[in-house]
Amino acid sequence: MNIFAGIIVNNDSVQVDRPFTYLVDEGISNRVKIGHRVKVPFGKGNKLIEGFVITLSNFFQGDISKLKAVKTLCEETPILTKEDLTIIEFMRERYLCKYIEAIRVLIPTGIMKGIKIKTKSLVAFSKELDKNFNKSNFINVINIVKENDGIYTKSELNEKFNVSLYSLNKLLDNGFLKLEEQKIDRSNQKEYVEYSKKILNTEQQNAVDTILTSTATQFLLKGVTGSGKTEVYMNLVNEMLRENKTSLVLVPEISLTPQMIERFKGRFGKNVAIFHSKLSDGERFDEWYRIKHGEVKLVIGVRSAIFLPFHNLGLIIIDEEHESTYKSDQNPKYHTREIAELKSRLTGCKVVYGSATPSIESYYRALKDEIKLVSLNSRVDNAVLPKMNIIDMREELKENNKSIFSGKLHKEIQERLDRREQVIIFLNRRGYSTFVSCRKCGYVFKCEHCDISMTYHTNGYLVCHYCGSAKKQVNLCPKCGSKYVKYFGAGTEKVEVALKQSFPKARILRMDVDTTRKKNSHEEIYNKFKNGEADILVGTQMISKGLDFPNVTLVGVITADISLNLPDFRSAERTFQIVTQVAGRAGRGNKEGEVIVQTYSPEHYSLRYSSIYDYDGFFKEELNIRKIMNYPPFSKIMIINLSSQKQDLLIKFSTILGDKVKERLMNENHIDVLGPCPSIIQKINEMFRWQIIIKGEFDYNIANNIKEIVYDQLKDVYNVVRVSMDINPNTLT
Ligand code: ADP
Ligand code: ZN
Ligand code: ZN
Repeated sequence: MNIFAGIIVNNDSVQVDRPFTYLVDEGISNRVKIGHRVKVPFGKGNKLIEGFVITLSNFFQGDISKLKAVKTLCEETPILTKEDLTIIEFMRERYLCKYIEAIRVLIPTGIMKGIKIKTKSLVAFSKELDKNFNKSNFINVINIVKENDGIYTKSELNEKFNVSLYSLNKLLDNGFLKLEEQKIDRSNQKEYVEYSKKILNTEQQNAVDTILTSTATQFLLKGVTGSGKTEVYMNLVNEMLRENKTSLVLVPEISLTPQMIERFKGRFGKNVAIFHSKLSDGERFDEWYRIKHGEVKLVIGVRSAIFLPFHNLGLIIIDEEHESTYKSDQNPKYHTREIAELKSRLTGCKVVYGSATPSIESYYRALKDEIKLVSLNSRVDNAVLPKMNIIDMREELKENNKSIFSGKLHKEIQERLDRREQVIIFLNRRGYSTFVSCRKCGYVFKCEHCDISMTYHTNGYLVCHYCGSAKKQVNLCPKCGSKYVKYFGAGTEKVEVALKQSFPKARILRMDVDTTRKKNSHEEIYNKFKNGEADILVGTQMISKGLDFPNVTLVGVITADISLNLPDFRSAERTFQIVTQVAGRAGRGNKEGEVIVQTYSPEHYSLRYSSIYDYDGFFKEELNIRKIMNYPPFSKIMIINLSSQKQDLLIKFSTILGDKVKERLMNENHIDVLGPCPSIIQKINEMFRWQIIIKGEFDYNIANNIKEIVYDQLKDVYNVVRVSMDINPNTLT
């Protein structure tokens, strides 16, 4: 009987975003399964390309003689599971992506480039020598191998024991010795100091018990900073290990700190897989392989680890669940929380969302009982939360203090230095000054490719933080020739310089994207600060979470206004979260901590509530605003971003598309279409940008309708007008 396979081909064009039917060749018909990666002839030239089998059937309506055949399986076992196929369909509907884009996040990137497991051949004993080989050199070799059976490769034996390669090969060729293939693990094999188990306090124990015994599957673990959430996670993982189930602990990239890894590996040993974005294709493949073959029972990873092929998954933890990086900004634009929820429905695993400052969406769901709320209200050992001071920088100006530091911050830093305690200074902007302009004619130095002002760095370059292009600093205004070129705004480099000037004896470290480009630099900075080799750590958001240093008693926020002033409906929420998180770095030991937040808008509700640690107060006020403005969680927002190098074409097509979208939604209640209009950042990397925003209570059916309209309208201009669609995006810029 004929077998027909529905196959998704590895090709990016929208036109081929559907299963193609192939006839399964007899040679593989008893081996092919759903989920197999295959090679198929495709297109006019019948070039062999990769494909993925997503359906198999005995029926085909149509002319069989016109079908092409699939003849080659890439692996013996299917690469995608049944569960993966559900995830693919889910993502395609919910994130408006293509099949192939959904498939790509489920398999290791290297596999399509031909990466395989790496092995080495070890020499082992096979049988005793016969009389033809009864010579002293052979006897010597065979004795050495017997003593080191299956431990060394040929060249290692040669180096270590001076065994001749000639004799080895002779004995191998004649079957006295044999080679054994062993997989080489490219993962980190470093030893870690044991991280001893703590006796849980009552709140922690209650949290663990509730999560393990409740019939609910989703939990929001809301615990103030320093309440010992990690210890709760570890106890849950322990229980899973006891039940022989796998656990996944997800953390934001920037919290995957050396400290985090140290603790988990120190507690659970080497058999923990770490999955982060700096892994090479080979390392990534190995971790994927270990997990697929059930060799690890605990994975610590960043968001993409949610797609790993777990065995018997019992638990997913999403730490710092409010973090925006859990939403992917590339296709498929998935939200990790939603994939975790789906996995829980598919496998029955428990999901724990942890945070000191839960996202508005999650807390709203918890209050509606869709997620079970579990709280940790006090810090471990009842340590007090650090005292918060909000400093009005306008008052500082009135008193003629033009420095970056308020009088109070300056004084408190000095006191810490005198007492040999440590300080963390936070500023969510890297570089030296963020804005360079001519004081005579007002010219602003902007990137040639983007509608973005350039940031000055102390290495003498002006850098665009969007496209990365850089040019050497100039001292004359390119427009009027005046020499009054001035540098405005402060980034982490400027703060570092200012600290050195104000506190010449202090030892200062800086941690931001620029100082952590090299693979181990993050760990080096972290270790130096931990070992007390520095007094002050300056940094961007990278230092706002996960770090647990008992000697830090002061945290300074240079200006909270950066995040407050972002043109985004989430800016208040982000500011509340960031201030609470950085503040949480202080006073974690037995010494009391203090926090100083500098701002030009001290009256803002986000700062008012964070300064008194009132999450519920903030939540109420924010939710009210969301309701009035009809923002999530009360609605969905769909953004259609259009971009092109040709501005007039872009405007023309945005307008036509806008009309079509409005026509489709005309009779839908409570759905607004905003735009088409130019985006907030009007040009990035030579591409002009326009957008259409759809806001309201629409379902995914409507969203997919809109997607079809978009593709249909743009089908003739694909190569000139690019489009991307996103539902509930992180930003509307
Ligand atoms: P959070 O993630 O909630 O901010 P952590 O998990 O980093 O807090 O815990 C804060 C500190 O308290 C850590 O140094 C941790 O080792 C310690 N800790 C956690 N639970 C206990 C406990 N039951 N007894 C003693 N120390 C604890
Ligand atoms: Zn000028
Ligand atoms: Zn640029």
